[in-house]
Amino acid sequence: MTVAPHFQFKNGALHAEDIPLSDLARQFGTPLYVYSRQALRDAWEAYRSAAQGRNVLVCFGMKANSNLAVLNEFKNLGSGFDIVSGGELARVLAVGGDASRIVFSGVGKQAWEMQAALKAGVKCFNVESEAELLRLAEVAKQAGTIAPVSLRVNPDVDAQTHPYISTGLKENKFGIAIESAVAVYQLAATLPSLEIVGVDCHIGSQITEVSPYLDALEKLIKLIETLADLGIHLKHLDLGGGIGIRYTDETLLSPTVLLDKIFQALDAHKLSHLQLVLEPGRSLVGNAGVLLTTVEYLKHSDAKNFAIVDAAMNDLLRPTLYDAWHSVEAVVPRSNTSESKAYDIVGPICESGDWLARDREFDLQQGDLLAIMSAGAYAFTMASQYNTRPRAAEIMVDGVHAHVVRPRETVESLFASETVID
Ligand SMILES: *Cc1c(COP(=O)(O)O)cnc(C)c1O
Repeated sequence: MTVAPHFQFKNGALHAEDIPLSDLARQFGTPLYVYSRQALRDAWEAYRSAAQGRNVLVCFGMKANSNLAVLNEFKNLGSGFDIVSGGELARVLAVGGDASRIVFSGVGKQAWEMQAALKAGVKCFNVESEAELLRLAEVAKQAGTIAPVSLRVNPDVDAQTHPYISTGLKENKFGIAIESAVAVYQLAATLPSLEIVGVDCHIGSQITEVSPYLDALEKLIKLIETLADLGIHLKHLDLGGGIGIRYTDETLLSPTVLLDKIFQALDAHKLSHLQLVLEPGRSLVGNAGVLLTTVEYLKHSDAKNFAIVDAAMNDLLRPTLYDAWHSVEAVVPRSNTSESKAYDIVGPICESGDWLARDREFDLQQGDLLAIMSAGAYAFTMASQYNTRPRAAEIMVDGVHAHVVRPRETVESLFASETVID
């Protein structure tokens, strides 16, 4: 069994749904991102069934994977979108997404992004500072419209995750400190070009426990009650994203457990009239993708064995950025394991930080295919062209069918718009 249900071994070969990954490598080359359509649907269904007919809006945190085919799939399933830039807004609109199901997050929204989002008619702006609130009020006024606003508060809870993906602590750049939130809401209430609609938080990513959510919820409920006493009534409560996935042997927090606990707390405080918004990114796509790569060279020494592969940190930044662990599978494992050695799996980029996995036992030969698992989230979207490496193709598998949802970039395209000067 691998960590991802739709990437399993059949007859000794790793498949994406019903297609052997080695067929895809032969047909499309490597490195290659391969996604499973059914995995997207299953991940969505976990949230849908957890909502149990309650007033819940799930907004896919699309920075995890913003390929149009992925967005279109979630749009058709009924998803909203959590966007963090004008570029992401354009992607949602490009697949015909409904702007009234978009929440706009991010600490540094520029005026043009606000204008575009107002024009599209987004559900709300998740405002992260007083300065941003004032800019939004001004932009809305200029446009002769009213901006729907939710304040992203920082509840100062520890999500017990990696420091780089923890966002709800006092020292993080995100959100408005919970102690200042009432004053900022009161300021918002005085600005006629703003309409207060909600409150939100997002405390971190790859969270595997329910307690950080409940700690945050408790603080938000107090805030909602204080605001109500001041005559400020909210329509929705947005608890962000952050639900973890399986990279190795994590026990997972299921959407059902999370939502049941949230509804319990809301009911206890007579707040079940509020719409609940969630912004899951990773948990909707992370285990729906792998990064397929070919072993170019093996390099053995007394100190280390290296498998130098054709994927690199420009294709998957998470290991070097977060020290993240991705499970790695040989696509066609050899049965004779007496030859196996511990390998560091590294790319060709001229950086010591260019590694994908360390100390993994394999019996490898040049030309072997490896699948780096759980590469559906924060993989392609963080990819770069460093070392003038074209970004890899993205394939969506649907049963026995493989669709190219983004072709491999050509080398020429990487500098086609550059010019030299005399
Ligand atoms: C990144 C992000 C998300 C999605 O987070 P996941 O951990 O991938 O679920 C949701 N909301 C905001 C504001 C984000 O920045």
